[in-house]
Amino acid sequence: MVEYKSFSLHNFREIPQMDYLSEEQKFDIEVVGTVLPFKTNNYVVDELIEWDNFEKDPFFILNFPQKEMLDKADFGTVASLLKSGVSKKEVQEAVRKIRLKLNPNPAGQESNVPVFEGKKLNGIQHKYRETMLFFPTQGQTCHAYCTFCFRWPQFALNEFKFAMKEADTLIRYLKANPQITDVLFTGGDPAVMKTRFFETYFDALAEADIPNLKNIRIGTKSLAYWPYRFTTDNDADDLIRLFKKMKKKGINIALMAHFNHPGELKTKAVKEAVKRLIAAGVQIRSQSPILRHINASSDLWAENWKEQVKMGIIPYYMFIARDTGAQDYFAVSLNRAWQIFRSAYNQVSGICRTVKGPSMSCHPGKIQIVGVSEVKGEKIFVLNFLQGRESSWVDKPFFAKYNPDAIWIDDLEPAFGESSFFFEEEAYYGMQA
Ligand SMILES: *Cc1c(COP(=O)(O)O)cnc(C)c1O
Ligand code: SF4
Repeated sequence: MVEYKSFSLHNFREIPQMDYLSEEQKFDIEVVGTVLPFKTNNYVVDELIEWDNFEKDPFFILNFPQKEMLDKADFGTVASLLKSGVSKKEVQEAVRKIRLKLNPNPAGQESNVPVFEGKKLNGIQHKYRETMLFFPTQGQTCHAYCTFCFRWPQFALNEFKFAMKEADTLIRYLKANPQITDVLFTGGDPAVMKTRFFETYFDALAEADIPNLKNIRIGTKSLAYWPYRFTTDNDADDLIRLFKKMKKKGINIALMAHFNHPGELKTKAVKEAVKRLIAAGVQIRSQSPILRHINASSDLWAENWKEQVKMGIIPYYMFIARDTGAQDYFAVSLNRAWQIFRSAYNQVSGICRTVKGPSMSCHPGKIQIVGVSEVKGEKIFVLNFLQGRESSWVDKPFFAKYNPDAIWIDDLEPAFGESSFFFEEEAYYGMQA
């Protein structure tokens, strides 16, 4: 068994590889890490990051806060507070103000929380008809934190936390909503949970015998950050057995794996974990945002998809980085994201082309940038709903004025002189409880 060692602000200086960094670079980590969540572990540090060239290393940037992730003024404020040795409380007050400026609750997630039996279900989000999100209380952290994370306020600002530990509420909600076929366990990373918690939820779901429940999905970054979760951890064998048991009961288990870079597929540990999961009948699908400094290259995406398919993983989504946290640091324009998607898609065979994207998860739904085109002299973006807050919006192309600098839906305007997009004219229905 490989022992898990976690590093964050209070102990990162103990990482032996910190000798590669100057004092100033370590201080920069401290400044940014005071505002944005910071956590890494021995697998990332020892097996993913290549330290000889750490400043450009995608996994270093993925876990270690970078100076440019804060705007200059905010960085300066926190740096001088830390240097002046003022009280923790004073630092926290300044930090709180900065965090609230970073759009801590993107895409109006609050509006996905259903009201059921007269109560708000804070551990559930139900936005798309067939799929509900479940946030198990024990899975609301991660084996390491991504610097681009859109759920960062869960770790940094407790008031935005979604979490639930009652399996019976989940089951009553599922039974009352027979249109739901998929429960997506999400977090944080639910795979930080001990197997006994998975077992409690899964057994309850299996025993409840819910005919509409076809798929249990687990959104996880553990294959990339702690593959030992599925191989040598104490309760790894039990987890694999549990997956097999669910499969036998007729419920499909799908791991929605976050892989940001082909380097995450190369270690012996991840290959072993993927093999075991697939042998247990688990489907693995992959998704990632497109991120400057990490993977904004068509060759990397093509390599990622090809390697995944070879390992038995199904490429699923390419996302646009969300409008929160360090978005400016990672943002790629919608135009460039489409160019990269297209040129990667062009390099791979049909079996890799299960991937959809690039897609923005925004308030109305998952909007795909289908491409840039020109109609009667007007340059436009062709867009399409892959998922919609209203199911009838799905697969209905629409158009926005071309804007080479746009990085998010807010930067887009309707094409052809229209005053609004079609979905803005329709009232949002609340989720039916
Ligand atoms: C992406 C997402 C889902 C899952 O959508 P699929 O297209 O079925 O993978 C469900 N709920 C929310 C809120 C999402 O953002
Ligand atoms: S693993 Fe997912 S939830 Fe956890 S920090 Fe990374 S992006 Fe955020």
